[in-house]
Amino acid sequence: MLTRKGYIRAFDAKEGTNNSKKSSSRLRAGDIIKYTSCGYHCFRNCILKVRIRDGVIVACEPDDTINPGIPREDNYLSEEIINKGLIQTRPCAKGYAQWQMIYDPNRVKYPMKRVGKRGVGKFERISWDEALDSIVDKLVETKENYGPFSIIHHPYSIFGQCSFPLAPWFGAGIAGWAAHSTNGWEEPERWVLGKDVARATLRQDEVQVLNSRLIVLWGLNPLSTLSGGWAHNLLRAKEQGIPIICIEPRYTPSAEVLADQWIPIRPTTDVAMMIAIANVWFKEHLYDREFVDKWVEPEGLKRWKAYVLGTDGGVDKTPQWAEGICGVPAETIEEFARLYARSKPVNLNVSLSMGRQFYGENPTRAAMYLQALTGNTFIPGGTPAAETGLPLGRSTAPSPRVDWQRMPGTYDPPTLMAAFKWPKAIDIREKLDSGEISAEEYNNIIGNRAENPTPNIQMVFLDGNNHLNGLPDINATIRAMKKVGSVVVSSQYADLPTARYADILLPQIYTAFEGRNCQAIYFQQDLFRTGMNLANYFLYCQKCIDPVGEVKSFDWIWTQIARRLGIAELYNPRLANTTDDEWDEAVEELHKEAYESWAGSDYIKPLNPLNWEEFQKKPVFRYEIKDPYYPYKRDMDRGINPFRGTASGKMEFYSEFLAKGPEHLATSDDPPGSGKCYGGGGLPPMAQMTFGGRDTFHSQESKKYPLLMSSPHSLYRVHSFLDNNPLLRGDCYRHAVWISLADANARGIKDNDLVRVYNDIGEMIIPAYVTSRVVPGTIFIFHGGWYNPSETKSQLMPDGIDVGGAPNLLIHNEDLPTTIVGMFPCKGLVQCEKWDGAR
Ligand code: SF4
Repeated sequence: MLTRKGYIRAFDAKEGTNNSKKSSSRLRAGDIIKYTSCGYHCFRNCILKVRIRDGVIVACEPDDTINPGIPREDNYLSEEIINKGLIQTRPCAKGYAQWQMIYDPNRVKYPMKRVGKRGVGKFERISWDEALDSIVDKLVETKENYGPFSIIHHPYSIFGQCSFPLAPWFGAGIAGWAAHSTNGWEEPERWVLGKDVARATLRQDEVQVLNSRLIVLWGLNPLSTLSGGWAHNLLRAKEQGIPIICIEPRYTPSAEVLADQWIPIRPTTDVAMMIAIANVWFKEHLYDREFVDKWVEPEGLKRWKAYVLGTDGGVDKTPQWAEGICGVPAETIEEFARLYARSKPVNLNVSLSMGRQFYGENPTRAAMYLQALTGNTFIPGGTPAAETGLPLGRSTAPSPRVDWQRMPGTYDPPTLMAAFKWPKAIDIREKLDSGEISAEEYNNIIGNRAENPTPNIQMVFLDGNNHLNGLPDINATIRAMKKVGSVVVSSQYADLPTARYADILLPQIYTAFEGRNCQAIYFQQDLFRTGMNLANYFLYCQKCIDPVGEVKSFDWIWTQIARRLGIAELYNPRLANTTDDEWDEAVEELHKEAYESWAGSDYIKPLNPLNWEEFQKKPVFRYEIKDPYYPYKRDMDRGINPFRGTASGKMEFYSEFLAKGPEHLATSDDPPGSGKCYGGGGLPPMAQMTFGGRDTFHSQESKKYPLLMSSPHSLYRVHSFLDNNPLLRGDCYRHAVWISLADANARGIKDNDLVRVYNDIGEMIIPAYVTSRVVPGTIFIFHGGWYNPSETKSQLMPDGIDVGGAPNLLIHNEDLPTTIVGMFPCKGLVQCEKWDGAR
């Protein structure tokens, strides 16, 4: 049989790598090559080699900053070198296709102001001076009229703090608690592993997966969503014969390519299978007693064991019990449990989406319990099954950092809501003002503690994201965008759903191709980037082309606003008086200064870094991985207790904090709780199968809306970014609702028919992909399809029924944050029917 390596060798021999290189170089004489980073949401920061001809980007090519002329390193390099990370980054289609977006015909190239109603998307060009003056006038007026808690700035995620760049010096702005993407893991980690646990320390180098005897990808599709190096190492593991099992309601590309076994499971029921696995282990004495005795707090374990075995007066949670809930046959659960127990080290990776459902804290905690019970926590080849459970590498390689010398501010923005609740806070404000609800009720709904001041949001800045698509309940966000006093949006595209609601639309640099300190998703203002997976390199993102039109950088825009407010010397002292013409050069000079300071440090000097000018030829610095990292390795090596952040000094299955109930609000002595106004909400103190939560098979609504929709990330978008990329559209990327043959037949739906997908908060028309790749009773619509209202209106969709396929239209958020700790759900109960009308 031809293996992958064999095929590659045969292909190389046939094509003749050197010959093709020679002929292509003639064609490309005179081109300029620059290097920059993808920098998008999978955190890898892959290196992109950018080809520029006559000032225009014409291609992105593979990384050749190491091993040049070797296109398939696995074929030529030793395992040892590959394991040291001395290899090229492997961008995916999203990285290679990204440059197309710069030249999109709908690119916002100039500041614009709204001329029609919000939502209609009609704008006219204005000057930067007019745009900035009007923003400053609104800022001052809003603060004067409504006080400091009236302005919100929302970039990608507030991450538990205020993101309004000028807040400390302007004296206005509010913070939000929680991180909407990750909190369903972060909080449970603190309950189980300790309040000091840091996500960075829970990561491992990707090559650790090669030390495993069994890899389990639970709800995880890394080949689509975390390609790059993680996918490479999973493929290596497969080639080395390490078994891989995928547990998923959908037969994903990862299951198809990697899995020795696919275990289909009904979404939101994973915890039932996890509990049943433990049931088998307890009964068959298959758990790791030595590890458990040493590291697991015994009283909590006793309580959970009693719950699992039903000796607490409840049901015995056998594999037969779980089968009725999760749909996985009891024999499969038993066999999987036994294989798991005897395969140490087990690399259990559980997706972030597990936390993005009501009571999502149950499976996220149970996954950690399973790894603890089998002694797989904090060992080479194992995982704590925490956070994403992903091999996100050491947090950062030491890299240069620009010293921006921002001055200390005098205003500390207070935390007055859950980060993602601003649309709700605006939408229901009239109920508070009219007396329909009390301040206490209002604050409870938005996730604000009773003793805090009540925010009154009148001005919204949406920076660097497509919030209309990204937040659950799109109709609620539309209502809020129409009601709020003023909206400033910075966007790449005028037709972006969020941009259509802007009063002022700013053209901002988003990708690293156009240089300057661009506003990447996470506020990375430096042009030095490290990949979070196997972060053994850093890159300086070179400017490839001049920005199109009058597009400006994030930092330039905020510096101009700061100047008008008289606080530029405080906000950005190093560039406060830099003119527009000098800006790029000044920014580069700051990076050069940072690089030289880094290169001259005692720690780095022995590594002989190149001088800045030489470094610019291929601006990547790689470190050799000598000792692959796994979570808490350094502590374990030094005999330091990694669980010192829990009250008992051991892993805790039972949370005393949550046991205090929803009325107990977190104090500084508690693990940072969240839930109901940063208390524990209605969460059980230990992981259990909770029935009846919204948007699960067990809720009341499931009678009316029997299909459970999930909105996974796709291979061809990063959230909603790239949905308009021409290279990532067409048949192989078709955006459709995935529906099982059984559910389609029952509704008379055939492949590619138009269907209406709806529930009580939204409806859309979308083509069907009828497939046996999904578990019956479930449907899938990939996250990030742009909301696109059609001419056809309905009571639910007064602006028009969506024909773009934006799943957040159908996902509720009104129960949050009572039953989920500060992150969005990605599921909704819906019904589908064949649509005979036009789209
Ligand atoms: S793997 Fe991630 S960082 Fe790399 S190109 Fe793809 S999306 Fe970008």
